[in-house]
Amino acid sequence: MRSPWQHLFHPANAGRYRRAVASAVDHLVDHLEGTSGRPLTGVSPREAAARVAAVDLDRPLGEGSEALAELSCLWLDDAIWFHEPTAAAHLNCPVVIPALAAEVFISGVNSSLDTFDQSAGATFIERHLVDWTAARIGYDDRADGVFTTGGTQSNLQALLLARGQKEGHRAEDLRIFASADGHFSVQKAARLLGLGDESVVPVPVDVSRRMDPGALSTALADCTATGRTPMAVVATAGTTDFGAIDPLPEVAALAKAHGAWFHVDAAYGGGLLVSPRRRGWLAGIELADSVAIDYHKTWFQPVSCSALVVRDGATLGHVTWHADYLNPKDSAHPNQVDKSLQTTRRFEALKLWMTLRVMGAEAIGEHLDTVIDLADAVAAELTAMPDIDVAAAPRLSTIVFRCSPPGHDEAALTALNAAIRAELFDDGRALVAATRVDGRSYLKLTLLNPVATVDDILGVVAMVREAGERLAGSPASGRGDRLAVAR
Ligand SMILES: *Cc1c(COP(=O)(O)O)cnc(C)c1O
Repeated sequence: MRSPWQHLFHPANAGRYRRAVASAVDHLVDHLEGTSGRPLTGVSPREAAARVAAVDLDRPLGEGSEALAELSCLWLDDAIWFHEPTAAAHLNCPVVIPALAAEVFISGVNSSLDTFDQSAGATFIERHLVDWTAARIGYDDRADGVFTTGGTQSNLQALLLARGQKEGHRAEDLRIFASADGHFSVQKAARLLGLGDESVVPVPVDVSRRMDPGALSTALADCTATGRTPMAVVATAGTTDFGAIDPLPEVAALAKAHGAWFHVDAAYGGGLLVSPRRRGWLAGIELADSVAIDYHKTWFQPVSCSALVVRDGATLGHVTWHADYLNPKDSAHPNQVDKSLQTTRRFEALKLWMTLRVMGAEAIGEHLDTVIDLADAVAAELTAMPDIDVAAAPRLSTIVFRCSPPGHDEAALTALNAAIRAELFDDGRALVAATRVDGRSYLKLTLLNPVATVDDILGVVAMVREAGERLAGSPASGRGDRLAVAR
């Protein structure tokens, strides 16, 4: 007999649950084992859109294998696989297995982290992880924090706290200082806070792409001289393009001298907190009022898993709102909703918890150290190549470079490198990113796969150079007509 409730997670349906999850895992493993060598198929957006659009959502397929087969066709067959060494574009990491096992519990039990009466021990697992991260930062026991959806949300919340500290100031007078290479979520947060785009003051960077403290000092002085108020200084510990770590102690001192909130955006570089060999690179992070950390980047966690940690937990009060039905002021139960921008919230913390309990923190740090070593080794090779221009020495695990054959002006180089990237994507051999540096177009490798070897990544570089030679018509290929076509 079929029950209309047969699909609910419920003891009566334990067998069905087990079979459904087991066949999903089997299906995924078949894909995993079938992907070797290519990070993607290069499916076109037009094709992918057409296949999805053809699905009639009012006609369910039932619980046989059909829904999984359809999923393969719509997505998995062409998915981007981050475990492939040749997937080297964005800050997407291959993920660790203990975190994937945690996902089973997160979604099955479906705890919500807003209040203790929806989560029980989960509340304390999250708190213990926040405390542990705070201790790694070097904070004392006044520290607190909360898990977030990502660096974007963490940066927004940090700036909301900074705004709260400047109550009584007119929005139009407040300024936020971030390096010119800082993350765009700072600008978005300024918009959401009603401060306007012009409230974010970009601070110039030095040759190694770090915020220039002299320039920051001048910018802060100009701000106060014109009667405005420095609300926050955002240092980036690992810029998205260059992995540059701003000089944290100097920036901290300047922020403090001007009474500004000091936020460290360590979305990328936060993994250094557990690095056996490079923890020292974050010296000064303990001076921050708040720190954003993306565990879903350099801690090898599945999306999403992230946190905002603050030096003084009392400042989280700027996001507190008491609702009679949820978190009344006189409640005897602990809650996390007082500290969060979200209400209902997934138990993402369990992924990091299981990772630490199974592997330990240093094992994660070694993953990061390994990809930093990899970036260094690859960059050393690239620097010696006459047709390759490396924009700056890598700091974390990105390499910004481009094919730069002689005799090409800026427009030709831009077109050439865009064409190279498109060609690699279209035939699914490698994923590299594109970016602009001081108005000039570059390619970028973001390395987060500790299994990738120097030869793997030099293989990607060889594909780039081969395509570059062909498209540009270098002396080696003797052809000069392809670039015009590519443009
Ligand atoms: C990725 C990144 C962010 C944004 O984080 P999300 O998790 O993508 O929201 C913010 N800052 C830096 C430096 C980043 O690299």
